[in-house]
Amino acid sequence: MDDLKNIKKLSAFEFSSMLLDVAAKNKENKEVLNAGRGNPNWINTSARRAFFRLSKFAMKESESTFMKPQIAGYINSENIYSRFLEFLKEDKEEDIFLKKVVNYCIKNFNMDKDELISEFTNGCLGNNYPVPSRILKNTEKICFEFLRKNILFNEDTVGNTKLFATEGASAAMCYIFKTLKINGFLKKGDKIAINTPIFSPYFQIPHLHDYEIVEVDLDSKEENNWELTNDQLEILKDSSIKMLFMVNPSNPGARALKDNELNALKSLVENFRKDLIILSDDVYATFVDNFKSIYGVLPYNTILVYSYSKIFGTTGVRLGVVGINEHNILDDILKNYTSNKKSILKKRYSLISLNPDSLSFIDRLSADSRDVALSHTSGLSTPQQILMALFSLVSICDKKNSYIEECKKIVRKRYNNLYKGLGIKGYDGEENSKYYTILDIYKISEALYGKDFSEKLKQKADTTDFLYYLASQKGTVLIDAVGFKASPGTLRVSQANLPSESYIEIGKNILDMINSYKEEFENEK
Ligand SMILES: *Cc1c(COP(=O)(O)O)cnc(C)c1O
Repeated sequence: MDDLKNIKKLSAFEFSSMLLDVAAKNKENKEVLNAGRGNPNWINTSARRAFFRLSKFAMKESESTFMKPQIAGYINSENIYSRFLEFLKEDKEEDIFLKKVVNYCIKNFNMDKDELISEFTNGCLGNNYPVPSRILKNTEKICFEFLRKNILFNEDTVGNTKLFATEGASAAMCYIFKTLKINGFLKKGDKIAINTPIFSPYFQIPHLHDYEIVEVDLDSKEENNWELTNDQLEILKDSSIKMLFMVNPSNPGARALKDNELNALKSLVENFRKDLIILSDDVYATFVDNFKSIYGVLPYNTILVYSYSKIFGTTGVRLGVVGINEHNILDDILKNYTSNKKSILKKRYSLISLNPDSLSFIDRLSADSRDVALSHTSGLSTPQQILMALFSLVSICDKKNSYIEECKKIVRKRYNNLYKGLGIKGYDGEENSKYYTILDIYKISEALYGKDFSEKLKQKADTTDFLYYLASQKGTVLIDAVGFKASPGTLRVSQANLPSESYIEIGKNILDMINSYKEEFENEK
């Protein structure tokens, strides 16, 4: 019991690793099922195959300039496209893919063919610092098209968007917080609204900075289907709230904002809060049909963050982007700073710009990521950028978007199996990404056995007890959703990481747990 007390002090991620040890020795000797991890257990093959093939071509090109054994020179860009076509074989899967996507780019984006192949091959070799450091030229166009197609839902209304390629969405978050702070967007005592429950770094990072940020939790509720309600929007009218952090679709709630919520947010911003800065993390967007980003409706106010980690199974590669509109609130606020405030920042950015006052926020982001002084070495490694372009092209060049559709089917099947095991109905609304599930054990207990039972359960057992029971008795490892600021008694199941059939088992194990509490209470009588 002492153990359990100490356990209750651990963070969500530490706690789940401890649970794994307990699960390995579970009493019923069941297979360990760890559904705590958000890391997908599948990968995209086509872009990876293409990358290795492209790298082979890059080696061939470089080695044609051999100087000595083991030492080769730079590739020659002249006519490199035609040599690339000669290199490709008719019957090789990755060669067919490469030919298709390269020709798509040349035709649809008007890219120069030798320049594109040079960017790809040089990028694979990685023998130059990334230039431009924010993101490579053609890679930016390709990644934007991926976002436009999947995240903005083919809306052309947003105008020009600039991207900054980062080491995953995690690095994007760190960079954004840092640049916001340095540039005076967040000051001591400022408020930020957070649409909780949320991926915990969003409320942890602001507190790590040595100024007092006041956090306003919007506290979405399952009974409202995790929606942004009018009451929550009302809170945002308070002009001391400087920023709004959204994960959309949410983690752990797994819901995307619907049209009515997007419209309500849009009208709130336009009528009351033109000054609100929104950060939207759309990492799970590609798991929702007809997804629409906040960025698509409020491009001026919104910083977009996206990661390739989840859909393409690339958490080890580290691939993410920040998107900011060419017309954006951050640059306008910077422009209107007093000359005193400007002069402090001028000093910082004059290291890299002749006109530091007009350096855009996104360029500051890129420079700050290497503390300005090293900004000439900033930017995502070029092999990573080429991989990101190739992953994007998997979706862009396929009208049916079949890779992404298949990934959706994977998590949906697992979600349905979980509920099958639980013996209750899941939520099938289009906005449910089904990547995660929040299970409220008290609510499920009430639905199964009535209010008296669930009330008694509330007094006897909390989230930690449930997690401990499931691990030690059944070998099932889940995560505490309370750590994401969800309500007591909630657990997060990730549909990312286990075979489909395992989810039936997990559902049954949870049901067994509730039944065993029921038996226990009956025996007490
Ligand atoms: C997984 C996750 C991330 C991390 O993305 P990386 O690109 O792997 O760093 C960011 N935000 C949310 C909401 C996530 O769930």
